[in-house]
Order: sequence, then structure tokens, then C-alpha cells
Amino acid sequence: MSRVLIFDCDGVLADTERDGHLVAFNQMWREQGVNWQWSVEQYAEKLKIGGGKERIASLARDADFRAAFQVPDSEDAWQAIVAGWHKRKSEIFKDLVMSGAMPGRPGVKRLTRDALDQGWTLAVCSTSAQASVQAVLDSVVGKDLSARFAGVFAGDIVKAKKPAPDIYNYAADHLGLAHGDCIVVEDSRNGLQSAAAAGMTCVITYNALTQGEDFSEAALVVSSLGDPGEPATVAANRSQAQPSYMVTVADLEAILAGAAVR
Ligand SMILES: [Mg+2]
Repeated sequence: MSRVLIFDCDGVLADTERDGHLVAFNQMWREQGVNWQWSVEQYAEKLKIGGGKERIASLARDADFRAAFQVPDSEDAWQAIVAGWHKRKSEIFKDLVMSGAMPGRPGVKRLTRDALDQGWTLAVCSTSAQASVQAVLDSVVGKDLSARFAGVFAGDIVKAKKPAPDIYNYAADHLGLAHGDCIVVEDSRNGLQSAAAAGMTCVITYNALTQGEDFSEAALVVSSLGDPGEPATVAANRSQAQPSYMVTVADLEAILAGAAVR
């Protein structure tokens, strides 16, 4: 039986939303001379929308934003502005990652190494920009391990972003994976819905921005994957795994075995 571990990027590999993407969006608007900044609370709300371009584009329907910036009547003109802003924001984000401003979340590197060494297939599925996702993966697990990933699927390769299942279906098709062999690690309800709709088993590692969301479809809900010295808390467990302070490859195997029984 082949076994597959797929990570979401943002909020899973590192706390990239609050410490990276939000910082980069706001810096981009300051550079552009646009009198607009997202607060942490406003940005947490925007996380329900998959994709950075889509998050920016949604501002066209925000009365406060329209008071700060004259949104053009032409949809094409607005999308061109959005694309330019998003390109610059992605550059700022990549610089932040390269500067080491976003350390990996507990357990990601450990579980990556152990799963690869035990013959698992690893991948990343994100609807953020490809260059951003690759930079985060390289920075968190190191280039030696990231080179062993079967695929990093990101950006605009699918039209419908999370919570649509398209990115996970794309990865399964592209790598020839059986959906039932895949465990997805997500941090948000949006991502959980995407994985569940693709028929994949989901483990949630929540964070400050997503804590309290509805994770009822997840097999396991933990505060992180955990590491020696950085223990995780188990918030909900609907699987046959019995993780202690960290999630191990044996736990992932028990989760998949239980999912196959159901
Ligand atoms: Mg995420």
C-alpha cells in the first residue's frame, strides 16, 4: 500500500499568514501609496477566501476600501491592478521567508524526514503563489528534504481554489495517487473542506488565526505536530491513532488504517 502525506503550506509548514502574508499585503499597499491596511481580525476573515489574488479582489465589494481607493468600473482594469499588487506582495513575502522571519512549525521537519525515510510519498498542495510555497518549504525542511518531495502544487494550476477539492484532485491525478491513501495536514476549515471533498483524510494543526473553527470532519485535531521539547495538545481525535505529545509516522498509519475501515 502506498502512503501519501500532503501538507498545506500557509499556517501548516510555518505561521506564514500572520507573520508573512499579512505583513506583505500591508507593506505592498504602503509602497503603492494606497491608504489601506488589514488588521489581524480583518485578515482572519479574509482567510475564508482561498488565494491571495482572490483576497485582494474581494475588496472591490468593501465600502471602506472603496472610500480609500477608487476601484475602476471595468472588471479587466480592476483585475490588472489586483494582479500587479499581488505580484509585488509575493516578492515581499519571498524576501520575508528568505530573511528567516518565519520558522517552521513544530514537528514538520521531523515528520517529513521520518515519513520519507519510511517510503511515504510527500507533496504540498497550496493555492498560494508557486514561488512563495517553494521558498517556505525549502526554508522549513531544508533543500535536501524538499528535493525529495514528489510534487509542490500551487498557484493558479487549478481555477477553483480551496475550499474546492481541485488542488488535491490535481495532485492525485498528476502523481497517480489513490485518494484513500492520502493524509492531508491543514490548519483551517477552508483547507479541511477542500481535502474532505477530495475524499482524503485530514489532520488539523490549528493556529492562532484558525483556532475555534469547525473541524468536525478531521480525523485528528492537534495544536501542532509536536516535537521533543515542543509538545502538542490533542483537541479532538476521531481516529485509531493514540498520539502522545507528538504525531508520528505510526500515528499516521493508524489514522489511514482506521479511515480504510470506515
Ligand atoms: Mg492554510
